[in-house]
Amino acid sequence: MGRLVWDEYCLAGTAKYLLDDPHPEGKIGVFVRGCDSRAINRLIQDGEIKKENVYLIGIPCGGMKDPATGKTAKKCEDCTHPNPIVFDTMIGEKVTQSDKPNRFNSVNELEKKSADEKYEYWAKQYDKCIRCYACRNVCPACNCRECFVDQYRVGWQGKQNNRAENQFYGLTRAFHVAGRCIECGECERACPMDLPLMELNRKLIKDINELFGPYEAAVDLEEKPPLGTYKLEDPEKFM
Ligand code: SF4
Ligand code: SF4
Repeated sequence: MGRLVWDEYCLAGTAKYLLDDPHPEGKIGVFVRGCDSRAINRLIQDGEIKKENVYLIGIPCGGMKDPATGKTAKKCEDCTHPNPIVFDTMIGEKVTQSDKPNRFNSVNELEKKSADEKYEYWAKQYDKCIRCYACRNVCPACNCRECFVDQYRVGWQGKQNNRAENQFYGLTRAFHVAGRCIECGECERACPMDLPLMELNRKLIKDINELFGPYEAAVDLEEKPPLGTYKLEDPEKFM
């Protein structure tokens, strides 16, 4: 029998693997840090898994290490929920957590740029994108059974790897996960071309917080995502 090793280099999120077995015969055991537990909530809220089909072993997390540098992984630096939110049993003591308001610093800097400068910035980034879809594949919020990028009919996502199609892909994905992104940072970690994908995600999170009030996706299962509900007093400057 093999030995399960869980150490500070186990960077990858654990929850999305559950989609590989959508109809398990028994309960599946999953180790969950704070980010993984939010991903579990994401999948439950989206109707992709049922809580009764999983057994969650919670692990408070002081931050994982990047195997390339031996230092704290970038995705962990801005983590706001190191302790599991949902679990069946917990291993270890809870760690201190913080709201990490500085995680919006790069978004604040981007917002100071002119429209042309913003375009140049993102064009340069998406010129690097190779459309490997690693960002989608690891994302717990990207859980559609059939993704728009896999459509072959005319009028859907073009298959060319060029600036326009790459930007179309990136923007469509960012808006698809808007209000549902759990800030796990998996997309940016998995991107082989180092696109700053969390800047896009956090811009949308910041805008949603400012427009609809503070909201953290998949923390409270009973709380409906702001973009999934309608209120008469919702801001509608864009209308
Ligand atoms: S992981 Fe990076 S390179 Fe691959 S599709 Fe996503 S943004 Fe593009
Ligand atoms: S968009 Fe990125 S940060 Fe947000 S849930 Fe998906 S993988 Fe995590």
